[in-house]
Amino acid sequence: MENAHTLRSPSAYLSNEPAGSRETGFAFATILASAALFVVAVWFARKPLVPVPVFIPIYVTALVICDLITAVLLFGQFRVLRTGGLLVLAGGYLFTATATTAYALIFPGLFAPTGLLGSGAQTSSALYMFWHTGFPLAVVAYGFCKGGPSRAPVLVWVERAPPWRGIASMVLAVVVVVALFTTFATAGQGLLPVFLAGNRTTVVGKVFLLAIWLLSIAALVHLWRRKPHTVLDIWLLVVMCVWIFDLALSAVLNTGRYDLGWYVGRIYGLLAAGFLLIVLLSENARHHARLMQVTAELRSANDALWHISMKDGLTLLANRRSFDTHLAEHLAIAARHQRHCALVLVDVDHFKDYNDAYGHQAGDECLKQIARALATCCQRPADLAARYGGEEFALVLPDTDREGAVHIALTAQKAIADLQIAHQRCSTGAWVSISSGVASIQRGVVVSAQALIGEADKALYQAKSRGRNQVAVEDLQAEAARA
Ligand code: GH3
Ligand code: MG
Ligand code: MG
Repeated sequence: MENAHTLRSPSAYLSNEPAGSRETGFAFATILASAALFVVAVWFARKPLVPVPVFIPIYVTALVICDLITAVLLFGQFRVLRTGGLLVLAGGYLFTATATTAYALIFPGLFAPTGLLGSGAQTSSALYMFWHTGFPLAVVAYGFCKGGPSRAPVLVWVERAPPWRGIASMVLAVVVVVALFTTFATAGQGLLPVFLAGNRTTVVGKVFLLAIWLLSIAALVHLWRRKPHTVLDIWLLVVMCVWIFDLALSAVLNTGRYDLGWYVGRIYGLLAAGFLLIVLLSENARHHARLMQVTAELRSANDALWHISMKDGLTLLANRRSFDTHLAEHLAIAARHQRHCALVLVDVDHFKDYNDAYGHQAGDECLKQIARALATCCQRPADLAARYGGEEFALVLPDTDREGAVHIALTAQKAIADLQIAHQRCSTGAWVSISSGVASIQRGVVVSAQALIGEADKALYQAKSRGRNQVAVEDLQAEAARA
């Protein structure tokens, strides 16, 4: 069965992924459940409950944390996708977090008996209304921004400028707007209408709250009409529905603070804040799992590529690149620890004639057999059998002296002879044979890979000129002594 991983494109985000029937169905079920709860709560909305002042700080803290994390996640998506709509929405969430913080500061009895910053009786209501106006407006603005490249100059700038500039401007704008309004609602509280008398909302308060409620419904309808919907839109629609239930219960249909409608409405508010956060966090978890999977795939692809780049395609022995690296490495180790190191260059005798007689495909097959036989001669962990080029092979034998290397070369010669590959045009007999040149360095002698290969090649030439099917030796220490 296909799961969400396989259905979604790896680079998809909630904000650019079209909503499927799964998301729409799930969101619809959430709205239905919330609506059912709302209908039940409406009957009891006006029932006064025991005032629990500690409810407010708990509610406000949870709300601020949820909204802040949501804003950070949305800013993060904006950094990748650079769409103005995402920046606006992230700004909306940051706004609610900041406005809620200001609300907590001025709320009577939280930090000071009458609230901080010189707040008055109407300040908390004014801030509540400000906060509940700002978010639907952000949703409306998000609706306008979505779909196609933005044409408004400010959005064009936001989408083209480095993302940090857009984010910094948005954060600054939000903080300034909230600070200005808070200053107005505290220092200019004389200008505020009377929203709340005691714990009861006044008619003026009801009118304002109704206007805000209608604005939220307008935001919901506006977003609904901005089709096609992305997964983010769908969840934002859920958030807006719950937000409308929250406002209806805690501000429009109830009587004031601490009645059932007020409590349930606040809980709705928390749900509204939590929905998108949960969806964004699960998206993050999904991306993380995908990242892990892609990393593992990349690692194994890299390993496979590395093997391909180090192996000879025909014989599957180490290739020339691998040979060069291995030889250089072990010559350096030999020099550092004053050890022996030997190299055997192997060349198939009269191989051109073999191809001419049996065809290139048979030639390839013969090379494969020879390669397998040579590989069995390299027994120690650091030994390496490589295809040097064409029908030439090399055996790198670290920590092996001249006698040892000659022994291996003779073993290889016998192994090839034992294969008994028929070669009717061979001067050395009825079977395919090889000639080998051995070069070795004694303890304490430092030579380059080039010099060692040169000496092995010289020895190989001698083996060829002396009649093939034999091993010839060059000793670099002897050379050094002669020089
Ligand atoms: P010698 O005994 O002097 O080494 O004679 P030779 O014919 O083996 O030497 P030469 O270097 O003239 O020819 C090497 C031949 O090896 C040439 C080419 O036909 C054959 N050869 C090289 N690489 C391959 C390969 O990958 N597949 C096949 N089938 N033949 C190859
Ligand atoms: Mg050759
Ligand atoms: Mg040859």
